[in-house]
Amino acid sequence: MSRSISILGATGSVGEQTLDLLRRNPGDWNVIALTANSNVAGLAAAAREFEAELAVVADEKCLDDLRDALSGSGIEAAAGRSALCEAAARPAAITVAAIVGCAGLGPVMAAIEQGGTIALANKEALVSAGEVMTAAVARHGATLLPVDSEHNAIFQCLQGGKIADVRSITLTASGGPLRMVEDLSAVTPEQAIAHPNWDMGAKISVDSATMFNKGLELIEAHHLFPVGLDRIRIVVHPQSVIHSMVEYRDGSTLAQLGPSDMRVPIASCLAWPARMDTPMAPLDLPAIGEMTFFAPDEDRFPATRLARQAAEAGGAAPAVLNAANEIAVAAFLKRQIAFSRIAVLVESVLEQGVLPPAPRTLEEVLRVDEDARTRATRILEPA
Ligand code: NDP
Repeated sequence: MSRSISILGATGSVGEQTLDLLRRNPGDWNVIALTANSNVAGLAAAAREFEAELAVVADEKCLDDLRDALSGSGIEAAAGRSALCEAAARPAAITVAAIVGCAGLGPVMAAIEQGGTIALANKEALVSAGEVMTAAVARHGATLLPVDSEHNAIFQCLQGGKIADVRSITLTASGGPLRMVEDLSAVTPEQAIAHPNWDMGAKISVDSATMFNKGLELIEAHHLFPVGLDRIRIVVHPQSVIHSMVEYRDGSTLAQLGPSDMRVPIASCLAWPARMDTPMAPLDLPAIGEMTFFAPDEDRFPATRLARQAAEAGGAAPAVLNAANEIAVAAFLKRQIAFSRIAVLVESVLEQGVLPPAPRTLEEVLRVDEDARTRATRILEPA
């Protein structure tokens, strides 16, 4: 029997890799909704190929083009933020949340309210909403499965174990493409995006280069696996073979290993609690040869320190950190600021004035996000 699935952010890196897995298992899946921001051609092609019920673009200006691209197919077309949330709210056995940034938060919350299974790649949504999201998951009886390779690794290592028995969690980090680059102020977007191990969208690639990706993952892990922040460590492991580890109180450490290919954790979520085939070659340890590990250099890459401080402060701080980082990354990609200013900008926004009170609803999270974006933009473009 086929399972129903919706993919939010179907035209992105995670979205396309999810579609690749569906393509390899024809007949197993019934596609409900596919969404994109403005990539009409990619969205319409995927919607036609997988015979989706509904295709949605966030950018309302693209609606006529989407309707044209889908004409004669019988697939519904819609546009705008509320249409995205309506697509996410359509009942589906599993929803892959793969929109980039806090823009995905509303749709993720709409999917959670359906009480189904959400395969969450969109880490910024969980970082920003924190307890607002975890409380909604509990309230609606939804299941949150982590797609992020590190969190998926931890999730797998925790099967059969108890959080109370965990001594520590270790998030591995590749260190990104700039670990060995001396002058970070001269780094170009092209250099920052050229990740040595993973092929990902532009924003997360820059986050990997600054180490904000690991910082966001620290906050994500803190919400998904409540062992206490002081028990979540970060270690740089440039080969990206071990995706993360869980150490238990008896001294056993369990690790999940695999290729640097997001189809592995995506497949783990799609099939969970069973397993499914992927096109991965068997793990060849002699070919890998050696695995190395280093402590992160927080003087050169302050992002993990800033993220830990925001997580410790709690309340609105993680949403502020995330929003400021999104503005800074966008400005860096447009060559408006130097690479090394990304962390400086985030720190300035976090330190500016008094933090807003802890948000208790989705609307309050979105207000904190909007306010932090405005403040970050003002620092970048003083009046
Ligand atoms: P991409 O940039 O490749 O894709 C983003 C997707 O979101 C696209 O479908 C894009 O549509 C859509 N989108 C962008 N902006 C908006 C918006 N404002 N409203 C609605 N939809 C929007 O990102 P990735 O696939 O790399 O990453 C997606 C998420 O998964 C991120 O949160 C990232 O941190 C996380 N992740 C990604 C990994 C990876 O390997 N790529 C690994 C682990 C986590 P369009 O194509 O039209 O622009």
